[in-house]
Order: sequence, then C-alpha cells, then structure tokens
Amino acid sequence: MEHLAADVGAAGLKVTDTPPVVLIVEDEDKIANLLRDYLRQHGHVTHRLSRGDEVEDWVRSNHVDLVLLDLMLPGRSGIEVCRTLRGFSDAAIIMVTARVDEIDRLLGLELGADDYICKPFSPREVVARVTTVLRRTRHRPAAGKAAAGLVLDPASWRATLDGKPLDLTAVEFKLLDVLSRQAGRIYSRDQLMDAMYRDERVVADRTVDSHVKKLRRKIAEVVPDQELIHSVYGVGYQYEDRRQQETARHVPAAPGSV
Ligand code: CA
Repeated sequence: MEHLAADVGAAGLKVTDTPPVVLIVEDEDKIANLLRDYLRQHGHVTHRLSRGDEVEDWVRSNHVDLVLLDLMLPGRSGIEVCRTLRGFSDAAIIMVTARVDEIDRLLGLELGADDYICKPFSPREVVARVTTVLRRTRHRPAAGKAAAGLVLDPASWRATLDGKPLDLTAVEFKLLDVLSRQAGRIYSRDQLMDAMYRDERVVADRTVDSHVKKLRRKIAEVVPDQELIHSVYGVGYQYEDRRQQETARHVPAAPGSV
C-alpha cells in the first residue's frame, strides 16, 4: 500500500545542494567506517548495511544516489544484489571486489554497474570515483519543472518557503523532507517514523502527530491560507502544494535554479 496517491507530476519541490546519499554495503566494519568517514568529509550523506539481503528493502524505501556494493556479502552476493537493484532503481552502483581479475568476470556478466573498484583501495580514490560516477548519473530535475515553493537544504538544515525561512527543528525538517520528496504520496505514521529514524542525525520521540502539528503551524506563518501537509483519514499524511497549479505559471524561476 505504498502508492495510494495519484501521480501529481512536477508539483512543488525544489531541493538545492542536496548532498548525495551513498549507501555503503560492506560487511567489514573497518572498511565501512573508513569509507563512511571519507565520504562524509566530502559532503556525502551515508548509510551502511552489512548484509546483502538487507539492500533491496532499504533501497525501495529510501532515496539513494549511489550504492557502494561489496561483492562478497553475507545473506546475498553483490552480484545478485546488483541485478535486483538494476531491475527497479536508478541509483548508481559501484561494485567493490577483492580481486582485480574478478572485474573482467563481472564485466562479462553485464550487471549494469557504473564502475568497479578493487580492494585494497585508497579512500581518496573511492571518493574520486564516487564523485565521477555521480556527476555522470545523478538525476537533475528538468529545467522549468521546479516551482517557487519549498526549498530544502539538508546540508545546512535550512528550509525556505516562497523565499521565507522556516525555523524548523531537526525532526520537523526531516519530516518535511520525507513528505515533500514525493508530492502526493501518502505515508503512514509508521513509515514517517521509520524514515526519520534512518537519519542518524534525527532524535525524536515517537509522536508523528505532534510534530506534524508544529510543522503545520510554522508553515501557516508563511502561507496562512493553504495547507501543504494534508491528513489522509485513517492512513497518515501527504505533502501537496495545491497552489502550484495556479501560481507556477506566474512565478519566474529563481536565478540559478535548475
Ligand atoms: Ca565482504
């Protein structure tokens, strides 16, 4: 019951300078921690999984730009995981192998990975390769699709609505971030809670309703006449900027926006 809402197309959201989300799939703690530290230093948001059989679920329910995928994993091999991901996800994939002669074999399997890295590697090399692959593959919203409305910058936790700052707590920011990434999509309270807790930076008590209430109050200070966060009775919440249909035509895109 994940996609109850109709597709509302290019509604509302513009995310500027969103740090890329890199999923590290690696069963060796030392390597995973090293990659995490380097990637974070270079402005990436990271999440780590240590088992191959955890990857599909995570990618299905989270936004991810790139997966660093180890070949030898408990649960499910990197090869199987790569095939599965390619079936439904646009995320870039870099396969990490322990043997250089393995890369030829992997290429022969036509897994659709975007790059291959061999262990041992220098973290600096990995960051460079990640950057290159992301530059090539990262989705950018088409020109003219972004409307004035909401701008979220997860790097600085700053949110603006129609150019006016929203003074949000970390929990409220994350809530708005999750809801607005797929305008029109309906989320249950549990899904929202899960999504918020996956962000290691967010610590919150488990009361979605009270956070939504506060978030709405803050949004109402900027946009008094329109709800952006809608309650869906018996199900949960959705974000939809219903003003966009009327206003987007008249509001020129901000300078430098994509
Ligand atoms: Ca391994």
